[in-house]
Amino acid sequence: MASTIGTHEMDASIRCPACRASGTFHTWDIIDAGDVSLKDRVLFDENLFFYTCPHCQSKIHIESKCLYIDRDKKLLIWHIPDPREKVTLGEVQGALGTTSLAAYTCRAALTWGEWREKIIECESTYDDRLYEIIKYGAYQLLSKDDKERLPLEAYHIDYADDGHDPERLALVFMKKDEKGMAYVYPITEKLKDVTKDIFMPILDQLSREKQAPFERFGYAWASQFMTYLIKAAEADANRDTYGNLIGFWIKTIGEEIFQTVVKPQT
Ligand SMILES: [Zn+2]
Repeated sequence: MASTIGTHEMDASIRCPACRASGTFHTWDIIDAGDVSLKDRVLFDENLFFYTCPHCQSKIHIESKCLYIDRDKKLLIWHIPDPREKVTLGEVQGALGTTSLAAYTCRAALTWGEWREKIIECESTYDDRLYEIIKYGAYQLLSKDDKERLPLEAYHIDYADDGHDPERLALVFMKKDEKGMAYVYPITEKLKDVTKDIFMPILDQLSREKQAPFERFGYAWASQFMTYLIKAAEADANRDTYGNLIGFWIKTIGEEIFQTVVKPQT
């Protein structure tokens, strides 16, 4: 039988940035989805990765390396706060024992927020990279004023409602100066279908070309991907076809997410 290394706890030494007192933060470096109550806290407890200083009561957000493992859904999702740090497959194989990783979806995220978002995306049967492309595309449709009001840092994908159904996700635009206030736009099946039809063949081709473990498929990746695609399309003999496809996709986002008509910009 395969070994089951579950959740792993750890203590980190913390020096409080406010009062300089030292203390210990109890946290995790491996979280197993089989640990249901802890998984619930990962998804819904905003205070999970906060340290409270025992001396001055300051609350400090702690970013530390953590691996999320879901053996049923075959997910390995790293939280790695240092953008320069790369994870090797060997490191994970060491943590998992001899388990083969071939069947696993491997992802990495820079912040706890992105990590949680990635877990939610990856529990869906829909490809997380397509979610990131939709997320990127929709933000491009905001006006300059709206981008100011609804900052990118707080923009994210979440459950569409309290049912917490992984097949029903939404784009969440948080308002800048009103804590907890947000616009929630469900991602419709039609937009998912159109996005998949247009981009999945390209993603399949790219993943055949290079297979790097633990890639950060987030907003920055989606931005690079679209820039690459638009350049490639411009150089292609079928550029009108590509242009029409992208235009059709943008129009679909406008209709399906914002219920507005997007005028073509050429
Ligand atoms: Zn303190």
